[in-house]
Amino acid sequence: MTIIISKDDKFLKILQSNLQELYKSRRRKPGEKVHVSDILPGSCLRKAFFSRVSDTYKLTGEDIDNFVRGESSEYALVQLANMGVSQYELLFEEELIARPDLITMKQKEDSSSSGPDSERTSVSSEIIVEFKDTKSLERLTPNSSRFRSYLRQLLYYLVISNYDTGILCIRYSNNRNLIWIKSDSAGDYYFSPKNNLGEKNGERLSDIETWTVIMEKNSPTRNLLKNEIRSRVSLLKSALIENSVYSLPRVAEEWKCKRCPFLVECNPSSVKKKDSKSDFLLENGSITVISQEQSF
Ligand code: SF4
Repeated sequence: MTIIISKDDKFLKILQSNLQELYKSRRRKPGEKVHVSDILPGSCLRKAFFSRVSDTYKLTGEDIDNFVRGESSEYALVQLANMGVSQYELLFEEELIARPDLITMKQKEDSSSSGPDSERTSVSSEIIVEFKDTKSLERLTPNSSRFRSYLRQLLYYLVISNYDTGILCIRYSNNRNLIWIKSDSAGDYYFSPKNNLGEKNGERLSDIETWTVIMEKNSPTRNLLKNEIRSRVSLLKSALIENSVYSLPRVAEEWKCKRCPFLVECNPSSVKKKDSKSDFLLENGSITVISQEQSF
């Protein structure tokens, strides 16, 4: 009896088609409220606009990979954390929806009451946890732009919830230790050591890292972040109401345009206004990184 093997994409097509349906069903409509993920400074306001108004986007194999990594990783980590509520919806000034991956709430006095509150696990602290799954070849630090974009999302959640403690949990899907050697016109060159150890003390790199983020409830930074949120929500909302992308800036990090599904419609090279790369949190020294362990 012969064993027949053929590489084809029939099954992949099923996955793509089903993901396309899921994408359609979850897709935000132009008149719906803005979400935190739409307005983060590291993402693109024009992309948030096109993702609501354009029908041209066809999902790719990479989208499936990103979807599977993101959803499965978040689901497993939420189960493992075994605390709080996942995807609990918070509202900021009736305008903006925030859905942190995990939020814990202090125990209510009347624990016999019914409804969603009674189902939440009670803990002694109010904490928001944001999970991130990345293919980054390098360990992210507070100096890297991707880390800062993750941090900004968590800080927005802390502002909106009025909590002071958050946890950023970063899972590295690519757990080889790759050391950057050089770049040329063909791309980047990396070296992958056999022992797969990190630079720090020669210990094996952790595949999951967690960072505790504290922003005091009376910190003046909260008002600055609130103003940033208001300004970005207002820009995107106005564009959606007017059904015109004209007033929206192109993304600050131009390399993101190369892989953007709306590249043709957007035509970023024709857009004069560019989102700002500067970050007031860095400029006014609002971030302090310490190494001590934080207990809750
Ligand atoms: S092409 Fe660039 S500027 Fe235009 S929507 Fe995409 S990421 Fe934004």
